[in-house]
Parts: sequence; C-alpha cells; structure tokens
Amino acid sequence: MKIAVIGTGYVGLTTGTCLSEIGHSVVCCDIDAKKIALLKSGAIPIYEPGLEELVRRNTQAGRLHFSTHVESALRDADAVFTAVGTPPAADHRADISAVLAVAKLFGAFCEKTCLFINKSTVPVGTADRCHEIVTRALAERNASIQFSVISNPEFLREGTAVQDTLKPDRIVVGADSSEAFAAMRNIYQPIIEKGSVFFETDIRSAELIKYASNALLATKISFMNELSRLCDAVGADIISVEGGVGLDARIGRRFLHAGIGYGGSCFPKDVDALIATAHDAAINLTIAAAVQSVNDEQKLLLLAKMRQLLAPLKGKTIALWGLSFKPKTDDMREAPSIPIIDGLIADGARVVAYDPVARDNAQKIFPTIMFAETALAAVEGADALALLTEWDEFRSVDFGDIKKRMNGSQIFDGRNIWNPSIIASHGLQYTGIGRNIASTAHPVKK
Ligand code: NAD
Repeated sequence: MKIAVIGTGYVGLTTGTCLSEIGHSVVCCDIDAKKIALLKSGAIPIYEPGLEELVRRNTQAGRLHFSTHVESALRDADAVFTAVGTPPAADHRADISAVLAVAKLFGAFCEKTCLFINKSTVPVGTADRCHEIVTRALAERNASIQFSVISNPEFLREGTAVQDTLKPDRIVVGADSSEAFAAMRNIYQPIIEKGSVFFETDIRSAELIKYASNALLATKISFMNELSRLCDAVGADIISVEGGVGLDARIGRRFLHAGIGYGGSCFPKDVDALIATAHDAAINLTIAAAVQSVNDEQKLLLLAKMRQLLAPLKGKTIALWGLSFKPKTDDMREAPSIPIIDGLIADGARVVAYDPVARDNAQKIFPTIMFAETALAAVEGADALALLTEWDEFRSVDFGDIKKRMNGSQIFDGRNIWNPSIIASHGLQYTGIGRNIASTAHPVKK
C-alpha cells in the first residue's frame, strides 16, 4: 500500500520505517525542514538502537521516502498515519491541535478512498472530531471521497522501538466498519503472521486503551516508589520486596522497580490527560491523581538525600551519571534529572554530568553545567556521585578506581542498580532508594 506518515518523530519515523520494512511504500512527512533534510542525507535525528540501519536499507530499496510536502503525500496515499506530537497544554490536557490540523489537510487534499489512522495519543472523542473536520473540508471542495477514521494507538518504548513495532504484543485497532478492520489487517499482515494479536474494538475504547495502559504502568511504578519510602523508614529492602512480590505470577516482575520516578514524553502527560478527560466527564480518578503526585515527590527524593548527607551543597562538586529519562534514548522530556539538576544548581553545587547519548539534548536545557566525555572523567575530584539513568555501562564499574578519583565518598544510586556491600567495601557510603544496605538481595537487571 502507499502510506503517508505525518509527523516524523520517535513514533512516526519508527512506524514509517517499519511499515516500509514489511513491504509498503512509505513517505514520512514533517513540517520540520531540518529534520527532513537530515533524514534525506542518510542520518537520523534521534538515537534509537537499530533504526538508522533500517532507514538506510529501506531508503536504498526505494520503499522509504522523506518529504516536507504533506499535501502531495496526502494526494497519493491509500492510508495516512498521523504521528504528530500531542504535548501537554497549559491546563494539562493533551494539545491535539496538530492532529486536527492534519485532519483538515487530509480533507483538503486526499484524492481517493483513504484511511485516516491516528497513531498519536489522543483523548477519547478525537476521532469523532477528526471525522467532522474531514467531512467539512471535503464538503468545501464538493468532493465525495470515501474515508475511514481509525484509532490505532502506539505502544512502542523508546530504546526498543524497532523491536516493539515489528513484534508488538498487540495491535489495537478501533474502527467502525468491517472494511476498515480488513484494511488494517492488510497493512499489518506480516506482523500479525509473526504472532502479534490484532485487537479489534470500537474507536472510543481504542483511544482509552492507550491512556489506561500508560496510567496502569505508571501506577505500578508509583506504588513501588511509595513503598521504597516505607522501606527506608522501617529498615526493609525494596529490592527484596520487589523480588518477593514479583514472583507472584498474578503480579509479575515488570515495572516494579523503585527509583527516582518516571519521566519521558508519555507517562506524565498521558496520566494528566486521562485525569482531565475524566474530570470533563464528572469522574474523579483518585488513583491516577495519586500516581502523579507520588511521582512528583519521588523525583525530588534523591535531591533531599543529597541535601541531607552533603550539607551544605554549596560549593560541592556532584558527578551525575545518566541524564535521559531512561536508558537507550536521548530523550530528555520530563527526565527526573531535570528537577535534580535544577535543585543542585539552586543550592550552589557544581554539576559535572555524563550521559552516553543525551548530552546534546541536555545541553540545550542546561547550557551552564559541565559535561564530561566519559563516566570516569565525571567523577574526578567529585564530592559525590549520583546515578540518575541506569545505562548498562554503569552496571559493572570499578568502585576502587572511582574511590581513588573522587574527593568525597558519597554514592547515590537513584536506580538501585548497585550492590551496597561492594560499594561499602571500598570505603564509600551508599545511598539508594529504599535500600537496606545489610540486605543480601542483589539488584537484577530488568
Ligand atoms: P515527537 O515530538 O518526537 O514527533 C512529533 C513530530 O511531529 C515532530 O517531528 C514535529 O515536527 C511533527 N509535527 C508536528 N506538527 C506537524 C504537522 N502539522 N505536520 C507534520 N508534522 C508535524 O513525538 P513522538 O514522541 O514521536 O510522539 C508522537 C505521538 O505518539 C504523541 O502523541 C505521543 O504521545 C505518542 N507516543 C509516543 C511514544 C514515545 O515513546 N515517544 C510512544 C507511544 C505513543
């Protein structure tokens, strides 16, 4: 099929590339001319493992193209995916203006029977609004073209986006006709054949499934983060609690790992948008609201521990390892590192940061802090080391070497990846999140 993907960010670029990989002819469009120029030159604007090679292969095979000409892509397409951003508005609702703008262009320029497939995360009722906008735009040019508005929310995770797109657990499709479902099956057939569940539902439920999924995952994280504070207070060890709880097959081990809170472009904004949708429907989502406030507090927990153990922070040098909101991405949106760095700077500390890939994005937010070229260079002369993102390269480090390079001895493990007794054996002081340093439980890689 001829597919146009509108919006070439983390989701649009991955989706478009993977759709070309399974045989479709795809054009990825964006209003950001610099981004499209970069993609045309063979480079990719984001860090996403495996994506660059896939882009190269499909571009060379002639199945994948990049363009700023949204109108001509719409004229030619059998299916149009919207993957534009839906950032939080000032009132915490999702700003869907870019999705509605694409719907308007779709109505103004599509020339044949076409699917309007929304991949952006949008509140319940957005598909209906898109349907009205397209209908109006078609009427304005006296065009009678058949179209379907479909909700096809995206569940990929940055860092494993390619694998998540080519082998997703499920493909959720909300549509209102058997023809639309059949067309969507057709688009995804090679992926369905490899075992992904094709889940058909009504449009409003599909829109809500995305928010429900993210809010539930955020709930697991906030629940364990709150329990980590109880562990700190009563001398239990959160790693042991996670391990023992996660062995219950009804619960499972994933998303039980305590740390310094969730960030990224999805969980915070999606939980907020879900609360706003419920508010408009006169429903009070008390759990979702608590999940957000626990997370806001958790993002500042490590800073509070640093303030307590390093008082005064003024004049102290703090080495930070990891800045992106999670490993394997350069995405800094809503990263817990941001409020921590803000607090350190406000207290007069000197920050020396290292991140394997997020440096450029971090530098745009914090132009005045120092960035080290390597993890070890960051700890030279530092009074404390704080781990904020659990990149693999930080897992097996030589604390003897770190001790020699540091000026002080405080180690703050914001992601609970280190073994406190090993750190203590080098004469360093360990502080984690809900860790009991006498515990024999060893952190395991999630
Ligand atoms: P992004 O900010 O990385 O990319 C959005 C792109 O859309 C940008 O390149 C922007 O220039 C472009 N754009 C904006 N308005 C446009 C317009 N009118 N026409 C053409 N292009 C336009 O965003 P993202 O992270 O890819 O997220 C896209 C959507 O997918 C959001 O709704 C998000 O919530 C959802 N989502 C994101 C993820 C994720 O992990 N990033 C996962 C699942 C779902």
